Amino acid sequence: MDYCLRELEGKQAHDPLLIEKMNNSSQSSSSERCVWVPGPVIVGAGPSGLATAAYLKEKGVPSLILERSNCIASLWQLKTYDRLHLHLPKQFCELPLMGFPCEFPTYPTKQQFIEYLESYAERFAIRPRFNETVRHAEFDATLGLWKVRSFNKREVATEFVCRWLIVATGENAEAVVPQIEGMGEFGGTIKHTSLYKSGAEFRGKRVLVVGCGNSGMEVCLDLCNHNATPSLVVRDTVHILPREMLGKSTFGLSMWLLKWLPIEFVDRFLLIVSWLMLGDTARFGLDRPKLGPLQLKNLSGKTPVLDVGTLAKIKSGHIKVRPSIERLKRYTVEFVDGRTEIFDAIILATGYKTNVPYWLKEGDMFSKEDGFPTKPFPNGWKGENGLYAVGFTKRGLLGTSMDAKRIAEHIERCWNHFFPLT
Ligand SMILES: Cc1cc2nc3c(=O)[nH]c(=O)nc-3n(C[C@H](O)[C@H](O)[C@H](O)COP(=O)(O)OP(=O)(O)OC[C@H]3O[C@@H](n4cnc5c(N)ncnc54)[C@H](O)[C@@H]3O)c2cc1C
Repeated sequence: MDYCLRELEGKQAHDPLLIEKMNNSSQSSSSERCVWVPGPVIVGAGPSGLATAAYLKEKGVPSLILERSNCIASLWQLKTYDRLHLHLPKQFCELPLMGFPCEFPTYPTKQQFIEYLESYAERFAIRPRFNETVRHAEFDATLGLWKVRSFNKREVATEFVCRWLIVATGENAEAVVPQIEGMGEFGGTIKHTSLYKSGAEFRGKRVLVVGCGNSGMEVCLDLCNHNATPSLVVRDTVHILPREMLGKSTFGLSMWLLKWLPIEFVDRFLLIVSWLMLGDTARFGLDRPKLGPLQLKNLSGKTPVLDVGTLAKIKSGHIKVRPSIERLKRYTVEFVDGRTEIFDAIILATGYKTNVPYWLKEGDMFSKEDGFPTKPFPNGWKGENGLYAVGFTKRGLLGTSMDAKRIAEHIERCWNHFFPLT
């Protein structure tokens, strides 16, 4: 019961309609407190915020984390499905200064990852201020300080004033929900993967999953395992790689090969081994992009799908591949190839976007279009006037660790200048 309430509260903090309503009402908020924070303010208590706070603490710099949700790692705790495991082996997902327990499997479950993050926060005594949604942050050039306006659940505004501001709100802050013609007319359930928990809810139902990234593929598999009948909308080309090849994780092997070989060779190697292990995926409606998987990731940030069994279900016909949706009707879906089929539910595995441009008012560190740092990796972590970004590298938790280290080292130097050790 407690858990349900906590989850509901947490979800409300991510609900765009509720946020808009609160935004409107917040304009009339009269009571506003002002708090001076001697160290950096970190926005977001996901893995990136925690890693940066831990590093800073190690260096003797106190920080304050503001988190809109009621728990740490809200993406993992509130917005992911039950069967989720880390997509990458644990050695590539650990946060700095504390490894995973050795008894954890190579691919920890979502619950194990959350346990790890909770002990991480405990170990470094990180206590975020929960239910604080930052809606405005701006540098005051006269004072030379950042002013960060945050609202709690009762719409009480607080202004935090600080010298350093660290953006750790994540690449996945808001769900992307595409507008599909006839959406309002459709009689069945439509939900984004951030609200999908398990296929149990869809037993015996015909479910259309839109989007063929790692989440879409895994949700299809989960639906199959719960005796639902999934179809998968594939609108774009996609690289599917086996999660493991030659007895090693594909990710680990790629990282190792990249130390010795140019990226084009590694890509060719990955594609040959994938072809030998999985066959020609285009035969099943999953065309590969022209550019290799690693080059594509570097250029566009598009992550290859690491197959955990979905492809076998596509091959056996348990999951059908469909083209883009033309429009929805009351009980049917019309596809662009003219086919019409009946579905009971639609799951949108259509990804996420950042929310930085909505609340951070600054010059040009972040792109107003996509909400990512404008400087390419590995230089996107630092802006002007004590502004930093952690976790926007499109390189998962590995990127987070790199950013967190650089930020903590940089702030430590300024901190020691302001507060020299005697
Ligand atoms: C299904 C799924 C599986 C994944 N698997 C892996 C994997 O195996 N390995 C890997 O490296 N990466 C993986 N990722 C990528 C994932 O994004 C990172 O692992 C990690 O969660 C990023 O941490 P973060 O702290 O940067 O962002 P988040 O985890 O998104 O945390 C950001 C926090 O900021 C808070 N926040 C946002 N806006 C505000 C605001 N305005 N005010 C206050 N607080 C705010 C949010 O509530 C959230 O708690 C996966 C992602 C998904 C969706």
